[in-house]
Amino acid sequence: MKELKDRILKEGQALSKEVLSVDSFLNHQVDPVLVQKMGKEFARYFKDKHVTKVITVESSGIAPAIFTALELNVPVIFARKHKSLTLTTDLYTSDVYSYTKETFNTISVSSHYLNEWDRVLIIDDFLANGQAVKGMLNICSQAKAQPVGAGIVIEKSWQKGRSMLEEQGVDVYSLARIQELDEGKIEFLD
Ligand code: 5GP
Repeated sequence: MKELKDRILKEGQALSKEVLSVDSFLNHQVDPVLVQKMGKEFARYFKDKHVTKVITVESSGIAPAIFTALELNVPVIFARKHKSLTLTTDLYTSDVYSYTKETFNTISVSSHYLNEWDRVLIIDDFLANGQAVKGMLNICSQAKAQPVGAGIVIEKSWQKGRSMLEEQGVDVYSLARIQELDEGKIEFLD
């Protein structure tokens, strides 16, 4: 998605060879006009998959997931990372290693909102080693729901997430694929 790549080049900051900050439009301040275009693009790509639910993990996946779900006219579930007083029973859970925090989070989804009839589109902001998407796939499997693909805003293509997910038969669609990151350098794959 050209507009996204242009914003990454203009505003993205390579914090190291491994981590990109896009806090100015996605991870802290959110540009709703740009994120709505992301949602339209995900919806266009996955339009024939008969999606019934969009799932993401709080918090940075929520904005692109909402706009995707709006286009597809289906609900969004965001997996919780933190314990909630209102979410205590009938949970599907999965332990996910956090790439940025370097700790395990238990993500949870209420069993009331996901079931065996659902066709689920997974959305996330970044794809690195694929642990967040793997956790959401695990939750789909507990619910016997059918995952139909993963829509990723920014993929770091040298990390192993895409290959791990493709080996499991997941259709991964990324709006920007980064090939190399370094101080002052951001190179795309295509
Ligand atoms: P994975 O689970 O694929 O290893 O990592 C993806 C998750 O870690 C995403 O949900 C995202 O929040 C975070 N993440 C991974 N790499 C980056 C990065 O370079 N920048 C930012 N802002 N988040 C990242």
